[in-house]
Amino acid sequence: MFYYSTRNKNDKTAFSTAALTGLAPDGGLFVPEEIPQYTAQVKSSLGSMDFRDIAFETIKPYVKDEIPDSALSDIIQSAFTFTAPLVAVADRFTAELFHGPTAAFKDFGARFMARSFSYLRRGEERPLRILVATSGDTGGAVADGFFDVPGIFVTVLYPKGRVTSLQERQIAGLGKNISALSVEGSFDDCQRLVKAALADEGLKKRMALSSANSINISRLIPQAVYYSAAAGRIFAGLTDPDGEATPRVAGFVNRQEKHSGAPAILCVPSGNFGNLTAGLYAMKMGAPVKQFIAATNINKTVPDYLNSGEYLARISQATISNAMDVGAPSNFERMSAHFSWEEMRRIILGVSVSDDETKETITRIHEQAGYFLDPHSAVGWKGVDKLRAENKIDSSPTAILCTAHPAKFSEVVEPLVGKPPVPQSLSMAMERKVNSKTIPAEVTALIDALV
Ligand SMILES: *Cc1c(COP(=O)(O)O)cnc(C)c1O
Repeated sequence: MFYYSTRNKNDKTAFSTAALTGLAPDGGLFVPEEIPQYTAQVKSSLGSMDFRDIAFETIKPYVKDEIPDSALSDIIQSAFTFTAPLVAVADRFTAELFHGPTAAFKDFGARFMARSFSYLRRGEERPLRILVATSGDTGGAVADGFFDVPGIFVTVLYPKGRVTSLQERQIAGLGKNISALSVEGSFDDCQRLVKAALADEGLKKRMALSSANSINISRLIPQAVYYSAAAGRIFAGLTDPDGEATPRVAGFVNRQEKHSGAPAILCVPSGNFGNLTAGLYAMKMGAPVKQFIAATNINKTVPDYLNSGEYLARISQATISNAMDVGAPSNFERMSAHFSWEEMRRIILGVSVSDDETKETITRIHEQAGYFLDPHSAVGWKGVDKLRAENKIDSSPTAILCTAHPAKFSEVVEPLVGKPPVPQSLSMAMERKVNSKTIPAEVTALIDALV
């Protein structure tokens, strides 16, 4: 499997180069030259397969020339120590993507990336410096994924004052090979600085550099796994038994659903659109997905594009679902490399949700179903409500991809519905001390901090 830059179809690269460099030399994003297909056998058993077996079948065709089966299997066993339970809640499903160590879906991508980097760089002497811009959750997941990995150093850039105190501790509390820069600007500024540093010839001569944003293809591919698992289980009519630490109150009972035999509508709370792009890959591979919903907060660049055909990037605005405060989603370039506007409109419905609607949803669903939604997942929930009210989606089985654990955003959740149960990994992170350096939103300041 080769990868090419979204800006030059003729420039083909192997998976290892695409993963380790992060961004193509021309500033484009790497995309696979084709989307592989599940075999008929895998396709028909997605609903009952073990999560890690789905991971193996999903990722293998993308890396098979460079990571042998046995190594891939080891990477998956060590990265995916948790799964994504599918839970029936009220009139829909939630795919809980927050059972990893930092309690957000980004653990899937970050942990796979860290372990595959380690494998691909075996025998390398020169240390690797990874730069990552975060609006909140990426930084923690990447820091955690790479923590203590020999030969790899990580620098996380986050917008000063725009992440929660827990997120800041996850980003800037680990130490060792992980360092943190608090940038006087927005997430888009952080992202711009990372892109500029990765393209800086002088810096590249001095150190081996890579990125770990969702622009990195090795983070994106493993995220396709839970789409196939969720869609497969919905198709087969199975939800997951209790046992995972789901934030449910007593009395909520998992049901054995009817075999729906229907492709699912999957609603993805979106910011930088890496998650949704991974979903598109899963669908193309053959997962039983009928349609996607791209649910955003008021940063609705992509929903507007889907409506009008015109792409207008803008400055991001701060919201209570801050991991989605993105005005210029970088994965849009990747989506456009695979799909025209007409195709995207057929597959993806856009919807935007305000902070007030988000809060109202958290309160309402807790009242109705005893279920705690974090603000990002609540954007997804409300997005489905709105599209249903407008008759834009039918009664196909529908799942919300719950992107973060509600306890991760207790600043928002607790005043509305009380304290959600806190997973142990989060209570441990709260004990850490923040150690970060503040820099202005200028490329020279970033370069000075690195050399
Ligand atoms: C990162 C993140 C998102 C947005 O995901 P993208 O891949 O950037 O679209 C949504 N919710 C949470 C909790 C996140 O951490």
